[in-house]
Amino acid sequence: MSVHYRACNLCEACCGLEITVEDGLIQGIRGDRRDPLSQGFICPKGVALQDITHDPDRLRRPVRRSGDGWEEIGWDEAFDLVASRLLEIRRREGADAVSFYLGNPITHGWAPVILIPLLLKALGTRNRYSAASVDQQPQHLLSYLLFGSPLLLPVPDIDRTDLLVVIGGNPIVSNGSIMTAPDIRRRLRSLRDRGGRLVVIDPRRTETAGLADRHLAIRPGTDVFLLAAMANVLFEEGLVRPGRAEAFVDGISAVAAMVAPFTPEAVAEVTGIEADDIRGLAREFAPARRAALYARLGVCQTVYGTSAYWLIHVLNVLTGRLDEVGGWMLAEPAFDLPVIGAKTTDLIGYDRWRSRVRGIPEFSGEFPSVTLADEILTPGPGRIRAMVLVAGNPVLTVPDGRRVDEALADLEFCVAVDYYVNESSRHADVILPPTSALERDEFDVVFPAVSVRNQVRWSPRVVDPEPDSRSDADILMELLWRIEADGGHARRARLAHEARRRLMPERLVDIALRIGPWGLRHGRSLSLRKVRRHPHGMDLGALHPVLPRRLMTADRRVRLDHPVVVADWPRVVAGLGAPQRDGLLLIGRRHLRSNNSWMHNPERLVGGGNRCSLLIHPSDAGERGLTSGDVATVTSDVGEIEVDVEVTDEVARGVVCMPHGWGHGTRSGVGWRGAAATRGPSVNDITDTARFDPLSGNAAVTALPVTVRRADAPR
Ligand code: SF4
Repeated sequence: MSVHYRACNLCEACCGLEITVEDGLIQGIRGDRRDPLSQGFICPKGVALQDITHDPDRLRRPVRRSGDGWEEIGWDEAFDLVASRLLEIRRREGADAVSFYLGNPITHGWAPVILIPLLLKALGTRNRYSAASVDQQPQHLLSYLLFGSPLLLPVPDIDRTDLLVVIGGNPIVSNGSIMTAPDIRRRLRSLRDRGGRLVVIDPRRTETAGLADRHLAIRPGTDVFLLAAMANVLFEEGLVRPGRAEAFVDGISAVAAMVAPFTPEAVAEVTGIEADDIRGLAREFAPARRAALYARLGVCQTVYGTSAYWLIHVLNVLTGRLDEVGGWMLAEPAFDLPVIGAKTTDLIGYDRWRSRVRGIPEFSGEFPSVTLADEILTPGPGRIRAMVLVAGNPVLTVPDGRRVDEALADLEFCVAVDYYVNESSRHADVILPPTSALERDEFDVVFPAVSVRNQVRWSPRVVDPEPDSRSDADILMELLWRIEADGGHARRARLAHEARRRLMPERLVDIALRIGPWGLRHGRSLSLRKVRRHPHGMDLGALHPVLPRRLMTADRRVRLDHPVVVADWPRVVAGLGAPQRDGLLLIGRRHLRSNNSWMHNPERLVGGGNRCSLLIHPSDAGERGLTSGDVATVTSDVGEIEVDVEVTDEVARGVVCMPHGWGHGTRSGVGWRGAAATRGPSVNDITDTARFDPLSGNAAVTALPVTVRRADAPR
């Protein structure tokens, strides 16, 4: 029996785990009490890492499509086949004919983050898509526009604030999102124990709202108007006090003019929040000793995602919270990806080119996923003919999943780096399954950048992988050198490959730590050896002010009235006066035992009844003759689904709510048997690719207009 310590890789909270292993099998997983960040906290997903690691449905060796099924092949044969097909399509159709779709799990390992940009460069394609553009792309875009790097993402200094306002987020369930804050329940309770207040603004009385001092039920999709009205009140009532930020922030007076039309009275009806409540909120927020405004999906996944999230920054700046203790702060990670990434790749940028079919701007070398199917199905030069899917499931994740399904089936060649045959990888010609996280050493290069305390850790392997298996790093490096070898560069490609193998990950991580903000160069002497001496993780202390020093904009200043936001502002103004559609608005939700589409195979994560249900207010249900347990048909502009009904006053009138990432049982040919046996449709079978935020390209999957009727009722 041996005991191992490492970070959980399943969500952004990065909790410390204590894992007991006997005879190569995990016997149990619990929270690591000595982890300075999570202090023993763990959620049910972390416990289920045991099931995922030993899941019999996981692929262990490469498979190739064979008739209606799959046949195992050797690794070298698989790598050669994949590289030759990608290169052949590139030669024939051009570089953009080869495309990548990257799923959310890639951010939890060093290898995809470091190696995929190299693969993209080697292939020369501009067709990259990811789950980020269905989720948080407005946040990355604004960090790039305002601070100069997509990963300079402020987080609320939750452990020291006196007032936290959460809008469109449910951290009790997500354990922080774009915010690494394990055991957020403890942190929020501490906030209240020290006399602080929690205010939640959400169309649903979420789990976080259940803990709050105040819950305001806003009409879905109207956050931008509420936030603009709060800014308006600050200007009107002389409450603007940016403090130290005034020295490096420009454009505040221009913002005053932008929000002038958004008086509380002007937005009250559309938001469903009384003018007095809006004034009260602004008046409470502005003078609080320490306060932060935090927003997530409900704000980002709207047609005004970037403008709305911009106002989160605006309000934090106007009230002097930016970069202040207890406010809206930036981490300073030991492996400084926000700075290294912005300095070393040419991926970072905005609107340097546009998508072929719909003319949507790229951001950081990526097109929005709402146009993925267009780029596959629309004939013409540059059409996508091959796809590399890395840990992604766009059929369930991207709006209008049925069309994505059709598009993946239309490809000439598809390779998936995934250990499940899921709803998307079932379209692959070859699947290359990596080892699971517990079967390899890991180093988190992303989430320390959004952590509520500065921290670093090395996570050693816990169980040995099966013989003849490959990690994600092995797979990506093998593909990379084969691509680089094309055109007679075999020797050079092999040499580069050998050098990468020697460098990654240990030496690369060590160099990055030594030259990073906590390294020798800065007199703090952090190295990989030192980090490894802390098996429970290393706490580097509370967040500290870092601005303007860490700004990466050309002039090292923040331009609050950024031209990209200003140019789109007339659309926001027009939106305030636009007629509202009748009917219901569909919003999303998440469960503690789920994270997108890929944790629905272990029984312990899906047991206990169907969680993919439609929440509907009793009055709305009554008008439609619906009671809990009925099946309803939900219809949008693009499709309809049938879903179990749950009547509850948790959602406001006019709002219905269901989770995403389900629908496994509605597609044949998947290999995860547990997931396939679950009930419930994919909400993305009715979400609409025509609804997106035109600045960031983020899908507007929330506030979707729908009609709801009994499934057995006449249409
Ligand atoms: S909250 Fe759960 S899934 Fe997320 S890191 Fe912690 S244990 Fe893992």
